[in-house]
Amino acid sequence: MAMERPTYRELERRWKALRASRDVRIREVACVGAPRTLLCAELGDPSRPLITIAAGVHGDEPAGALALLALVEDDALDPRFAYRLWPCTNPSGYEAGTRASAEGTDINRTFGRGGGSPEARAIVTANRDYKFALALDLHEDDEAEGFYCYAYGDEGIGDAALAAVRASGAPCDPQGCLRPDPHLEAESIGGLSLSLLLRRNAAARTLTFESPARLELAERIAMHATAVRAACSQTTVK
Ligand SMILES: [Zn+2]
Repeated sequence: MAMERPTYRELERRWKALRASRDVRIREVACVGAPRTLLCAELGDPSRPLITIAAGVHGDEPAGALALLALVEDDALDPRFAYRLWPCTNPSGYEAGTRASAEGTDINRTFGRGGGSPEARAIVTANRDYKFALALDLHEDDEAEGFYCYAYGDEGIGDAALAAVRASGAPCDPQGCLRPDPHLEAESIGGLSLSLLLRRNAAARTLTFESPARLELAERIAMHATAVRAACSQTTVK
């Protein structure tokens, strides 16, 4: 039987439940100008290099958000790092199953100029003083045949993540690891994505993972979890 995705409320409840069992620090960050908050989760030894992972900016792409939750619930993140996680950066879109937020905004085009949507502004403001050893954003693509990624300054991490997905028996898309020019990319999509913003000012290595939405949800969640673990394990600590 196909897996059903949990509601946003259920997702939130499961993250908050981790406070007790996993030493995860969870905050709700207000989205000024919209009636909602974003979850921000921190875990790991704060003296370690920091990795940030975000998911769910497109509400009709649930696998990344569910993979991130599963990785923390299963205590499967590499302990060499501390983590700053954004479990679902578009709660109203997730709830409605739509790419855009309730206001009709594609949030992942609004990370320029301090944030052009309530969600982007909340993230930009809360992330202001942070630098990351690695930044990941988890997406899905309804046209892809298999898993692929976009990478900026990744030092081979994208290829390693795809190799790990392939080794798990899941399909990778022929386009593999794409490395577009960040400036041209911002122009062609018509705004700054979270990955492009982080690449610009906070993270030397930035990747966007894309799972193929045509596959079963459970399979897509497993692909993201595999890719995230491979990317973290390939990240060198300087
Ligand atoms: Zn997306």
